[in-house]
Amino acid sequence: MKNGVDEEKYCDSVISELEELIEKICRIPAPSHHEQARAEFCRKWFEENGCSAYTDDALNVICPVADDGIGDLVVFSAHTDTVFPDLAAMPFEKDEKLMYSPSVGDDTACLAILMLCARYFIQNGAKPKNGILFVANSCEEGLGNLKGIRKIMETYGKRVKAHYSLDSTYRHVVDRCVGSYRYEITVETEGGHSFSGFGKANAIHIASTLIAKLYETQVPKFGDSITTYNVGTIAGGTSVNTIAQSCSFKYEYRSDNYMCMDVMKEKLIRVLASAPENCRVSTKLLGERPCMKGVDEKTQKEMSRMCRQIQEKYSGLPCDTVAGSTDCNIPLSMGIPAVAIGVFDGGGEHTREEYIERESLPRGMRIAMEIIGSYFED
Ligand SMILES: [Zn+2]
Repeated sequence: MKNGVDEEKYCDSVISELEELIEKICRIPAPSHHEQARAEFCRKWFEENGCSAYTDDALNVICPVADDGIGDLVVFSAHTDTVFPDLAAMPFEKDEKLMYSPSVGDDTACLAILMLCARYFIQNGAKPKNGILFVANSCEEGLGNLKGIRKIMETYGKRVKAHYSLDSTYRHVVDRCVGSYRYEITVETEGGHSFSGFGKANAIHIASTLIAKLYETQVPKFGDSITTYNVGTIAGGTSVNTIAQSCSFKYEYRSDNYMCMDVMKEKLIRVLASAPENCRVSTKLLGERPCMKGVDEKTQKEMSRMCRQIQEKYSGLPCDTVAGSTDCNIPLSMGIPAVAIGVFDGGGEHTREEYIERESLPRGMRIAMEIIGSYFED
């Protein structure tokens, strides 16, 4: 690995293999909580390529390097799950410039690059400065509620000193996190016939009143914090001539500041407590992504700066730092420095028209090799 010459050669030599690997993984459906087939593909691939790996009960595939069971660890991860509910094989197409497939960029290209980097360092017997975990993790997307990375942090958290999630285009580094709480709120009441029961309590009316009050909320502000809220769906009632007995709606709030999250929670509790006595209001927590808390600012800034600089160096494009909701939310909420980095260029994430630029892949390989390589001895 003198002066990165071998890495350069390796990056150039694996591009067609990388494209094939991306295609194979893209075709395997992997909705959050149903990543079995993708996880099994990745585990087998690691084994066949001389990298020992195991699958935990959250469907994370973990390939440890020089893990002595006690010392510090650095985690490099990319997620296997997608936002698409399909359980049948997924479509994949490519032309001269682009590769198209739902999940091709988010997060398949990142995952395939991670796998090929892991193989390089393991096959060459490179010595890491600390223990390393290469992880193909489950459940990053909405409904997955970060189950995979939560499990990793539960198993290894106290020993993890840094986490890099490969999960972006190389135009961004996500170095702050947006936390979110998502609820389903259900109002139930007596209801009745719309004519003979007129005047009885109506669950739709009560839910609407609560929603109106939620929308009177002034979002809290600490420094340059950003806080938002939304009611995304509403459902209820029986028929046009029935006073509704039940109505549910889904509500979320997000913030990049944990104090704002606490204020939003108090406001929600206050609004729900204002419902009239002749109804029952129940709340189901659908998802919880915590905010950053207690992270060493200097280390966090240094990781972000290094990744930005390497991404710019190989992409030739400016790279900015943004706040986002990613696997990094979990380590960041535990005081562990974490950034989501980018190793491709493309667009349309979370749509069936998602694509990546083929010529971004060699650049992405070099970005990942250099960032991961910085944790190995020369
Ligand atoms: Zn993603």
